[in-house]
Amino acid sequence: MLRLFSIFLLFITGSYAQNMDFALIQKGDVNSTNKLLVVGGIQGDEPGSFMAASLLATHYEITKGSIWVVPNFNFYSIIKSNRGPFGDLNRKFDKLSKDDPDYRSIERMKKLISDASVQMVVNLHDGSGFYREKYIDAMHQPRRWGQATIIDQAKVEDVRYGDLEAIAQEVDAHINKQLLSPEHMFHTKNTHTYEKQTFEEKEMAKTLTYFAINSGKAAFGNESSKSLPVHERVYYKLLALEKFMDIMGIEYKRKFDLQAQILKDVIDNDIFISFNDKKIFIPLSRIRPQISYFPVKKGDAITFSPSSPVMTVIEEKNSFVVYYGNKKLTTLVPQYFDYGKFDGAVEMFIDGKIQSVHLGSLVEVRDYFRVQEDPHVRVNVIGYVNTKYPNESGLNIHKKQILPQFSIDKDAKRFRIEFYDTKHEDKFLGMILVEFIQK
Ligand SMILES: [Zn+2]
Repeated sequence: MLRLFSIFLLFITGSYAQNMDFALIQKGDVNSTNKLLVVGGIQGDEPGSFMAASLLATHYEITKGSIWVVPNFNFYSIIKSNRGPFGDLNRKFDKLSKDDPDYRSIERMKKLISDASVQMVVNLHDGSGFYREKYIDAMHQPRRWGQATIIDQAKVEDVRYGDLEAIAQEVDAHINKQLLSPEHMFHTKNTHTYEKQTFEEKEMAKTLTYFAINSGKAAFGNESSKSLPVHERVYYKLLALEKFMDIMGIEYKRKFDLQAQILKDVIDNDIFISFNDKKIFIPLSRIRPQISYFPVKKGDAITFSPSSPVMTVIEEKNSFVVYYGNKKLTTLVPQYFDYGKFDGAVEMFIDGKIQSVHLGSLVEVRDYFRVQEDPHVRVNVIGYVNTKYPNESGLNIHKKQILPQFSIDKDAKRFRIEFYDTKHEDKFLGMILVEFIQK
């Protein structure tokens, strides 16, 4: 199980609090006038798109130049896992009524694309089948979109990086050196948007990339195949994005080796969320579908910091559901408390060694732990069966003394220790997680 990267990861700043506006994550040198704008999640049923953009935002460091990442352009449709509750965003870049529910979002995106510092725009999609120049069979033919770099025309005059076809072919060649299977071969698909007459092709004039070209920017679509598992789509998208950055002279460091299986592990397991000013930290890897008696602040909107910009928390039927892209990870069934303040560390004995532990941390335990007694603090170990003591500090607690069904994870390894202020009406202070690891 992967646990390496979490400590390097910065939380996405701010709390999202059920805000469905798209995020703009600015990375690298803010003053750069050679920016790459990467757009993910224009259609919510294309997880390769928003997961790749999300990882670019969270797991890459830009060391030279600058990128802007919008990982969740149609965030609401991502959560709902559909193409767009108010219609397809990628058909709204031509003319749009001010009454359209997506109007504000489209205008905001147009502003980003038109920004003088943006020189190239890449719009990420998951497409059907495998694009081929000549018909091979139903899934491999010119009408398919998967595994292709999409351009609207071969060249845009007087635009930096305007040689779209040459750049697309360079990107394809880079990807094709690292294919997981020959079937995944990338090709350049030119939609010849401006010269086409049919209805379907006129539709392409309403797209984000066509708007970008007409705003004097180099623009590309990237389509990975919906026939591939999500982590493989992400693999190809990151290969493409790295090559686009390379062409623009943008340099980066990545927090993992770019291999499909490693990506799967990062996507599934390097995920977490925190609440209450980070006094509650919840790893979401192998999380149970429901967590009961989750301490939520009384009388306030829930605030949280997700590890990924495509993660959010939505209140549904008196519970709080943690979404990660298209997936519902867990439902937190709340118990409401007044929150108190506690900024110091808690003294804990872990396998016989004293350790200072901050609220909102996870500590690894091999054999047993004990929270040192503090007259101001009441300790509750969730699932620890005890009828003798109102306060569970000062007790040596082993894994076998905690009921496994109270773990937060499906493997029954991670358990909650909750802290309350005995001097101030038993206000909730925060949580520490213990993770029992192999002896
Ligand atoms: Zn799409």
